[in-house]
Amino acid sequence: MRKKLIAGNWKMYKNMASAKEFADAFKKIYTKKDGVDVAFCAPFLQLQTLKAEFAGSGVYVGAQNCHFEDEGAYTGEISVPMLAEVAVDYCVVGHSERRQYFAETDETVNKKLKKLLPAGILPILCVGEVLEQREAGVQEEVVKKQVVADFEGISAEDAKKVVIAYEPVWAIGTGKTATSAQAQEMCAFIRGVLAEMYGRETADAVLIQYGGSVKPENASEILNMPDIDGALVGGASLVPEKFIKIVEF
Ligand code: PEP
Repeated sequence: MRKKLIAGNWKMYKNMASAKEFADAFKKIYTKKDGVDVAFCAPFLQLQTLKAEFAGSGVYVGAQNCHFEDEGAYTGEISVPMLAEVAVDYCVVGHSERRQYFAETDETVNKKLKKLLPAGILPILCVGEVLEQREAGVQEEVVKKQVVADFEGISAEDAKKVVIAYEPVWAIGTGKTATSAQAQEMCAFIRGVLAEMYGRETADAVLIQYGGSVKPENASEILNMPDIDGALVGGASLVPEKFIKIVEF
């Protein structure tokens, strides 16, 4: 039985005070349940605050990006050893906003995975097609190409530690959710690609989330699909009372 991972992606929202306020409020309404993990992927400057706030609560903390070199002349970047110092548990890699606005490619995603895994930080790797690709019916080819390139040179043992978030780009922040059937179909497809690459045992161990306008109203249907092992949640993770309803799907 795979566990579920419900992860909030705060994007570029919340300062130190509002992150602390959120954590205080969330801790009051959250009780850790067996088989369901919760994480918040926050802006870099809020990571230390959240680690301290959530210590002992069972809530995990993640970053939203990293650089693939340990150090160097990369102005404005944050390396994996720097994240490890703060003991972050997860790091989002290849989010569509980073692919779209910050020139993230499958090659840089792959390099980042290869840095995060030995450092013990679990990657949440985002893949997904844009609207034109969905309309052209090529979503499977697009996502397969991403998965194959992103996992290039990664061992089966390490592959099991990667969380994949299937996020159709047309559903992110748009209020347009993939139907639970569409989401299940793509998550099962991704598991099939992993099985071709690594074998069934590895594919069955990998957590595959759905992301894209998940909210309290649609969480239960999506999260009860057999190949969907959690959600990556943007907008609805910013409000404790909304997010808790997703966590308690
Ligand atoms: C995301 O940020 O990955 C995301 C899925 O956002 P939203 O839930 O707001 O669509």
